[in-house]
Amino acid sequence: MTIATGCCPPASGGDDGHDAASRDDAAMARRVAAIESVLTQKGYIDPAALEAIIETYEHKIGPRNGARVVARAWADPAYSERLARDATAAIAELGYGGRQGEHMVAVRNTRRLHNLVVCTLCSCYPWPVLGLPPVWYKSAPYRSRAVLDPRGLLGEFGVTLPEGVAIRVWDSTAETRYLVVPDRPPGTEGWSEERLADLVTRDSMVGAGLALAPERAAA
Ligand code: FE
Repeated sequence: MTIATGCCPPASGGDDGHDAASRDDAAMARRVAAIESVLTQKGYIDPAALEAIIETYEHKIGPRNGARVVARAWADPAYSERLARDATAAIAELGYGGRQGEHMVAVRNTRRLHNLVVCTLCSCYPWPVLGLPPVWYKSAPYRSRAVLDPRGLLGEFGVTLPEGVAIRVWDSTAETRYLVVPDRPPGTEGWSEERLADLVTRDSMVGAGLALAPERAAA
């Protein structure tokens, strides 16, 4: 198994803190690889089983699940209410749940509020609806800047919010995982859920992006 390392999307170039954080990530990856190697040699873990879990979450479970949840919430106000009240149960209605998604909270963007999700401690992420976290989500620069400068961080992802829009940052934990319900793009009235789901990107469900404009669907 290879543990990838990396950091936030490049924008303004590296600086000392940024480089130091990247080195921290690389050091962490080496430690994880060393621990995995020892555990494998001692027979405590089976690399094939690990690979099977990663394969499942990378290719069989992924952001398409979350996109279907968001599309349902956009299309069905009653479902949207259930999702806001008890996201774990509402997500289970669509057949998704389990490991790393036992306690879900859905946070909805509005014209006045943008939600951004981070795990400041490590990399907690809602696997059943988004799959495995991207490398940048686990990186030290993302985890710190999401708290210190969320607006600047969003700018690096290409998200520029209007002045009056507040940003609320949600810190994931091992207990609670968040799913952002992005704002439904205008011009999508009457669309089927399947079509709507094509507008819902992974990053938009973390809050690091916005839903695609209708003309960019399935481009
Ligand atoms: Fe975590």
